[in-house]
Amino acid sequence: MHLTEAQSMVYNTAKRFADREIKPHVRDRAADEQFPLEIMLKMAQAGLLSGPFPEAYGGGGIDNVSYVLICEAVGGASPSVFTAALTVQLSLVGTAVFSFGSEEQRQRYLPQLLHAEKVGAFALSEPNAGSDPAALELTARRDGDDWVLSGSKFWISNGSLADLIIVFAQAEPGSRHKGLAAFIVDGESPELERRVITDKLGLHASNTAALFFDDFRVGGDRLLGKPGDGFKIAQTSLESGRTSTAACAVGIIQTCLEACVAYAGQRKQWGKPIAGHQLIQEMVADMATDCEAARLLTLQAARARDEGLPATKAVVMAKQFATEAAVRAARTAISLHGGVGYLGEYPVEGLLRDAIGLSLYEGTTQIQKLILGRELLGVPAF
Ligand SMILES: Cc1cc2nc3c(=O)[nH]c(=O)nc-3n(C[C@H](O)[C@H](O)[C@H](O)COP(=O)(O)OP(=O)(O)OC[C@H]3O[C@@H](n4cnc5c(N)ncnc54)[C@H](O)[C@@H]3O)c2cc1C
Repeated sequence: MHLTEAQSMVYNTAKRFADREIKPHVRDRAADEQFPLEIMLKMAQAGLLSGPFPEAYGGGGIDNVSYVLICEAVGGASPSVFTAALTVQLSLVGTAVFSFGSEEQRQRYLPQLLHAEKVGAFALSEPNAGSDPAALELTARRDGDDWVLSGSKFWISNGSLADLIIVFAQAEPGSRHKGLAAFIVDGESPELERRVITDKLGLHASNTAALFFDDFRVGGDRLLGKPGDGFKIAQTSLESGRTSTAACAVGIIQTCLEACVAYAGQRKQWGKPIAGHQLIQEMVADMATDCEAARLLTLQAARARDEGLPATKAVVMAKQFATEAAVRAARTAISLHGGVGYLGEYPVEGLLRDAIGLSLYEGTTQIQKLILGRELLGVPAF
């Protein structure tokens, strides 16, 4: 798919940044579970954290195609950095504030997010509500001008460090998606209890937390949109998030492909580089085809969003295809590297663990397929 000169330049800048600032430290960061705050600050300085938001709010005014190219470059180096800095900070939190915030909320919060002065989190999932967010149990009760939140959230990326958290709550118990409301909550509030979730399979440099709200008071000025807008806010943010996650998955496949081509050319068995063996060529050929297919689907989804066209079908196709293709690519890349592929010293084993995470968050592969089925057949199956 043709990229403009400006779009290619954005990709090249992001790729150089990722190679220089992110790639060399991936293993250490994963081992220490280090949250990439200083990388976020550097990304902001390099103009890579301003996303597809207008300049008036500190944004870069770039299009969605350019934005997904940044996600591909950063995600190919570190899906953890991508998770913290791009899909959560910009796609989920930034989009919610930009699309549904009052002018005052936009002016106040967007520049803070886009300059990495504040870390954002998006708290939709709960212990008993994942694929079906309309079933969420955290309640919001109005009390004068304030709201009172009670309940808990689970799986919240950036959750234990975030300064501002978009919290989804049920304001009309029993009314499912119609009663959801979203609030901008202060992460530093002493009444908010936060617990880090440890022992994840991958995405180790991405922070994940559980949040506990016990009669937690939030001012009326922190309501995002109107009561009842919560479901729409979540869907709008997730559409941006899923497009960016598809791009991260493309980055993973590209990294696996490059690692495989390099290793196959250098590793010799049966008296010649393994690159010359037919089954190795099949692995690389399949990976390259998946990479291009995933990239085209992702760019198509981003382009539809840029043109203001209905993008849901393209977005869920891209998300489910690209993330599953990334799992396949990383799995194949380990095989191609033989025993050393199983070691942390090579990048591919970590990418397999990270890619599985991408196939789960922002809606599992099954949920993407159900949305696609509904779009194609006109009948919801959930
Ligand atoms: C690393 C990581 C980071 C995350 N970050 C965030 C975050 O920042 N904010 C946030 O709100 N959430 C976050 N999540 C939560 C994530 O969005 C959920 O895990 C995901 O939506 C699935 O929900 P669940 O885990 O409750 O699984 P469940 O909904 O319990 O699903 C279990 C299984 O059933 C399948 N399933 C469910 N319903 C159907 C159906 N109708 N038909 C067929 N199959 C079905 C699912 O596909 C899955 O295979 C994160 C998760 C992970 C792993």
